[in-house]
Amino acid sequence: MATTESEYYDLLGVARDASDADIKRAFRALARELHPDVSSAPDSDSRFREIVEAYEVLSDSDRRATYDRFGKAGLKRGGFEPVYADFGNLADVFAAFFGEDLLGGAGGARQRSQRGGDLQAVAEIDLEDAFTGVSVSVPIDVAVPCERCDASGAEPGTGASTCPTCSGAGVVRSVSQNIFGQFVQQRACPDCGGVGEVLERKCGDCLGDGRVVVGRKIEVDVPGGIHDGQQIRVRGEGHAGFRSSDRGNAFVVVRVRPDPRFVRDGDDLHTAVRLTMIDAALGTTKRVPTPAGDVDLDVRPGAQPGEVHAIKGHGMPSLRGSRRGDLYVRLDVAVPTRLTDEQRVLLEDVDAQVGSEAYVSREDEDEGFFHRLKSALR
Ligand SMILES: [Zn+2]
Ligand SMILES: [Zn+2]
Repeated sequence: MATTESEYYDLLGVARDASDADIKRAFRALARELHPDVSSAPDSDSRFREIVEAYEVLSDSDRRATYDRFGKAGLKRGGFEPVYADFGNLADVFAAFFGEDLLGGAGGARQRSQRGGDLQAVAEIDLEDAFTGVSVSVPIDVAVPCERCDASGAEPGTGASTCPTCSGAGVVRSVSQNIFGQFVQQRACPDCGGVGEVLERKCGDCLGDGRVVVGRKIEVDVPGGIHDGQQIRVRGEGHAGFRSSDRGNAFVVVRVRPDPRFVRDGDDLHTAVRLTMIDAALGTTKRVPTPAGDVDLDVRPGAQPGEVHAIKGHGMPSLRGSRRGDLYVRLDVAVPTRLTDEQRVLLEDVDAQVGSEAYVSREDEDEGFFHRLKSALR
């Protein structure tokens, strides 16, 4: 068949020039969907074998090159045999391919040495802290290796013996018959939880789990310029595995509280200042907020409502490199709403003396500078 050469790529739904990361991602998604442990589709078992085989080939650069040149026949000549038969359940597959404890200790023959799950925590900071960078202490509930039994799960001084139910394999098989034929199902041994051995006596602290949940704090250095929703990984601060001291990672999601004075756009900040009609006409100096304190902004005579001034380098620091964002200040011109009769007369006097030539737009002399800034904001 002409399609044979792209079969493995088709199975994973990736292009022939897909990167290793693409292949991994595609396989991971399909494995979650198709594994017989989670899928009830009658053909999930055979489909799952196919994608595992495809992944075994495409994730290995030598095998992939052989397959690209000579197809499956070339692989066979090279002695390649799919290893799917060794995997009891989804956790095993993920542990083997990705080194992770996907199901958080749901059982499997290779569980003993498995890394624990990752954990996620949230740190809320103010915009000023996001500007300077800040050290935060985040409370977490985390499973840590049990000290009493040194993560073995066994009461100190007692041992473990081979599980009689699974003879140490960690998995049990059952055979079922249905209209599609005979199915051999493999699942984690219910008596030993997939470890392959049973404890003489369980540890009194962790009840055989090898890990205990404690309240702790992790310290995280949040870099200046962090954006709302970004995560910081803290290696090895996640959960301990089932009877394993190998811990996962902690991920701290940083939430930056909105600051009513600013709207953030990437590394740039936008703010507004209010000046009176008279100040706008005569020119003035206004104090403008920045995350590092107020600065002066010179407003020239004849400033227009909605005019935007860029203050270079007064935005947020960039996470990458030393460049700073800019601060854009929009002028909001206030018009008096409560005039006394006397003041009204004064204004009418001014109006009578100021002819229309005083209102000529200076847009031309600005040559579109503010114009550009204004349209950038819309
Ligand atoms: Zn213990
Ligand atoms: Zn067992």
